[in-house]
Amino acid sequence: MNQYRHRDDCRLCGSTDLELVLPILPSPIGDAFVSQAELDQPQPLFPLDTYLCKACGHVQNLDIVDPEILFRNYTYRTSASMGLVDHFRKYAAHVVGTLGMQPGDLVVEIGSNDGSLLKAYRDHGLRVQGVDPARNIAAAASAEGIPTLPDFFTAAVAEQLVQQLGHARLMCANNVFAHADGIGDIVKGIRTLLAPDGAFVFEVSYIPDMIDGFVFDTIYHEHVSHHALIPLERFFNRLDLSLFDVERVPTKGGSIRGYAQPKSTGQRPQSARLLAMMAEEERRHITEPAIYRQFYQDIEARKQTVLAYIDAAKAAGKTVGVYGASTTATTLLYHFELEKRATMMFDDNPIKHGTYSPGAHIPVYPSEQLYTLRPDIVVIIAWQYSTPIMARHQRYMDEGGQFLVPLPSMQLHPQR
Ligand SMILES: [Zn+2]
Repeated sequence: MNQYRHRDDCRLCGSTDLELVLPILPSPIGDAFVSQAELDQPQPLFPLDTYLCKACGHVQNLDIVDPEILFRNYTYRTSASMGLVDHFRKYAAHVVGTLGMQPGDLVVEIGSNDGSLLKAYRDHGLRVQGVDPARNIAAAASAEGIPTLPDFFTAAVAEQLVQQLGHARLMCANNVFAHADGIGDIVKGIRTLLAPDGAFVFEVSYIPDMIDGFVFDTIYHEHVSHHALIPLERFFNRLDLSLFDVERVPTKGGSIRGYAQPKSTGQRPQSARLLAMMAEEERRHITEPAIYRQFYQDIEARKQTVLAYIDAAKAAGKTVGVYGASTTATTLLYHFELEKRATMMFDDNPIKHGTYSPGAHIPVYPSEQLYTLRPDIVVIIAWQYSTPIMARHQRYMDEGGQFLVPLPSMQLHPQR
């Protein structure tokens, strides 16, 4: 069964000089919550081993799950919320202003989904074109006036678009850039399609922020590249692109919005903040193994602290639940081996209620059932939201329950 394949070379530079720096434990597909009727179907675990390329410094996962399996389980995915539409409107206005886009300029978005971002660009008088492999979503976007090619973006697709539409003054890619295994061909296509004075804008999560914030749970099967600026700039340069600016974005535990242009024809100077962030990466030796080896040791120390507490409590007959039913929660659940210890899961999203967690099949309950099921300890695996969760469930603590926040270092509420 070829459910996943392992590649032996770096996704950015092709080197085979790779070191396994973060051996995150295997987990099932993080978002694959199942119904009662699906409980008899076993869910396999897939590797999350994370490697550093010692040639270019790129941090990546090399075990690529078959997209059929990865996306089959997306039944529960929700569409763009009102908040997201507002985010796109501000994002587009900001980019149009920053880059001096003119009415009639062409914008191409890779992974354009339902066209929400492109609609915002269209409102600025720009010509727009989406590319998205999800045929039904692409068709719906096209019907709403956002022309969308139902395909994966490749160098060949880029050639075709240049013939049909001319060159793009702006290209964007958000989730795709950290999620695509074939990033080399995508970037070749971007270079082909970009006008000589064009710009490419993308958002990716930022590995120095992952380390500083302990958000190693943003490593999951869809998310195969964990970017830093130095390896990315080396990669871009080989394909005649170059970064000229970067902004910090607070999503996903710390992300960056990068701006690149054709290296041979782009006129924009590299910004002071880009140079400062690259210098900081240099200072921290972000392309070398030591920082990741230390990060892994720090993760392991936290895991052992949490497990010592949980195992002592279980030995004393206490019951353990977890709070949070999401993709990142699955990574943490499995890496901390809590899937073997927790017997109930709580979440506030009604879509998850009555389902069972991926792989371990822990039942998911509404959080109100904290008061009827009364687990002695609840580990908040959605730990980035622990403050609002605990505020909402003060009564659980008042009635004798205890919350355990596992990261960035273990906290008990109340302390007892
Ligand atoms: Zn490399």
